[in-house]
Amino acid sequence: MSDRYAIIGNPVAHSKSPWIHAAFARATSQDLDYARIEAPLDGFAATVERFRAAGGKGLNVTLPFKQEAFALCSTVSARARVAQAVNTLVLETGFGDNTDGIGLVRDLEQNLSFSFSSVLLLGGGGAAQGVVGALLDAGAARVVIANRTVSKAQALAARFPGASASAYEELAGEFDLVINATSAGLAGESPPLPAGVLRSGVLAYDMVYGRETPFLQAARGAGARTCDGLGMLVEQAAESFFIWRGVRPQTRPLLEKLRGA
Ligand code: NDP
Repeated sequence: MSDRYAIIGNPVAHSKSPWIHAAFARATSQDLDYARIEAPLDGFAATVERFRAAGGKGLNVTLPFKQEAFALCSTVSARARVAQAVNTLVLETGFGDNTDGIGLVRDLEQNLSFSFSSVLLLGGGGAAQGVVGALLDAGAARVVIANRTVSKAQALAARFPGASASAYEELAGEFDLVINATSAGLAGESPPLPAGVLRSGVLAYDMVYGRETPFLQAARGAGARTCDGLGMLVEQAAESFFIWRGVRPQTRPLLEKLRGA
């Protein structure tokens, strides 16, 4: 029987991860099966345990369970500990990792050839938590975190020298990279950015993928370069695949195929 993996979240029906991991498996001749599991909001740990007991090898974790996944692990990587959020579980060992940050940085540096210094990160949930450390490690001189619930941005920034927090209406200064790590785009909304933040010379990056969000529309209208989160999705998946299988799949051919589709 093929080794079993899955993406677990709520909602999860929209996830492209099964398709991506199936393509990685074909390209690297790995025998695995990758499914989608929607866990009840109050039943994450029990759903993980059922999958493990039935022989499941690993899980990717998506919203809103990344913090709960972190709490469930017996050991975690350094980057997951810093993030306090886990998106990759190895079920045989109880190990947890977070590949979101490295996935975002690889997309920015390798796929988009974009170097950044001053970063504005919008959001304070699991996705934002996962990327602050990687952005600073990749050389960002400063990361300003703005979130609707300001206390969450403050708590997150306090964990990283080089990061600071701001309310949306108090944002000041210029940024060369503005990352939307909120889920606002899924509801057809945009974080309330002051005028002037999105401008020519800025890369506006929305982690939401596969749709033209109001954030990306506003950025394009202001003359900024724009990108959705598809490259990050593929890169974080490749890192998870490597953790589970010890094989690093190529990402560019798959990304080109997905973008073409
Ligand atoms: P969470 O539910 O943990 O956090 C959601 C965040 O969005 C919170 O900061 C919340 O603010 C904010 N938010 C929600 N609605 C609005 C709004 N209308 N206006 C302003 N802020 C809002 O989700 P995650 O952090 O896990 O995920 C965020 C997004 O990133 C999701 O859409 C997810 O699909 C995407 N993502 C993409 C990845 C990729 O590989 N491309 C990887 C990971 C995530 P508050 O705290 O005030 O509630």
